[in-house]
Amino acid sequence: MSRIHLLSPQLANQIAAGEVVERPASVVKELLENSLDAGATKIDVDVEQGGIKLIRLRDDGGGIEKSDLALALSRHATSKIVQLEDLEAVASLGFRGEALASISSVARLTLTSRTEDQDAAWQVRAEGRDMEAVLEPAAHPRGTTVEVRDLFFNTPARRKFMKKEQTEFRHLEEVIKRMALSRFDVSFNLQHNGRRVQQLRPVDSEQARERRLASLLGGNFIEQAVHLDVSAEASGLRLWGWIGLPTYSRSQADQQYFFVNGRIIRDKVVTHAVRQAYSDVLFHGRHPAFVLYLELDPALVDVNVHPTKHEVRFRESRLVHDFIFRTLHRVIGDLRPKDAVPAGA
Ligand code: ADP
Ligand code: MG
Repeated sequence: MSRIHLLSPQLANQIAAGEVVERPASVVKELLENSLDAGATKIDVDVEQGGIKLIRLRDDGGGIEKSDLALALSRHATSKIVQLEDLEAVASLGFRGEALASISSVARLTLTSRTEDQDAAWQVRAEGRDMEAVLEPAAHPRGTTVEVRDLFFNTPARRKFMKKEQTEFRHLEEVIKRMALSRFDVSFNLQHNGRRVQQLRPVDSEQARERRLASLLGGNFIEQAVHLDVSAEASGLRLWGWIGLPTYSRSQADQQYFFVNGRIIRDKVVTHAVRQAYSDVLFHGRHPAFVLYLELDPALVDVNVHPTKHEVRFRESRLVHDFIFRTLHRVIGDLRPKDAVPAGA
């Protein structure tokens, strides 16, 4: 008797879900990325019980065609890339075609959508089991709503790893914060258990940006931060954002946001460059606060390193490192001497 068999689509998706769907916050991250990729300008997130019971995300983006709805839930189904070469300069946040398939394999998912040229909306539902989707008409303006109920209802082992409602909600809020920092032009609203928690309007002016920063990171940060915007013509690199004065150093690395082409990342090269730039002005064990945006030719950075895409690989990491270091070092060196003295020195 043959011992090798193909996994059912559901099981294959559940296994893949292990990599991208860790907790409610990871569901929200994937759904937000989809909305941004769809060109949304307004995203409303509604959650119950820290997202464990319900996550509902509504956007005003381009929507999904009726004929694509069921396919959107299948694994390896994406509208964002066609061939391998597309990956070399991918501009969208998603491209793996795994999120909706993974989420729907471990939760009860409803996807409702309407495109500009459809007169009605359509809805498709998936509940883990057979992955067979049934289409029904629905009422919805242009855009998409994804509803995810009872996360891990069919995977008790994963359910056990979820923390208390408040803890899950904190993680989820952090994800929204990062997205709101990455896209000032988009409005984000968050509601938890029927209570409005976050309401961020789209902003265009410098002042409005700083108001959004203040509401996300606290007024102290922006009062003790300097704005920078530096481009290197030869390499096409641009670094902009806000860095905290040495006097605003923290005991933990809890206010460090670094975006590469709009995607939040954690990266050793970046961390090292920033730390080195601050090394003359910060005491050992203190951490700088910053919100920084690096922009570069997408072809110079590989984002397909990990399913969650939190990591990247720079094609010329030395160049990137030195640019970040030099830029920040100069900005920090230009601070008035009063500012540059660490508190308590
Ligand atoms: P990926 O984002 O990697 O393409 P997903 O599983 O997250 O894979 O989504 C599958 C597809 O469903 C996307 O490529 C996109 O075409 C469509 N889609 C998902 N969410 C939305 C949305 N909010 N608005 C419009 N299209 C969406
Ligand atoms: Mg996606």
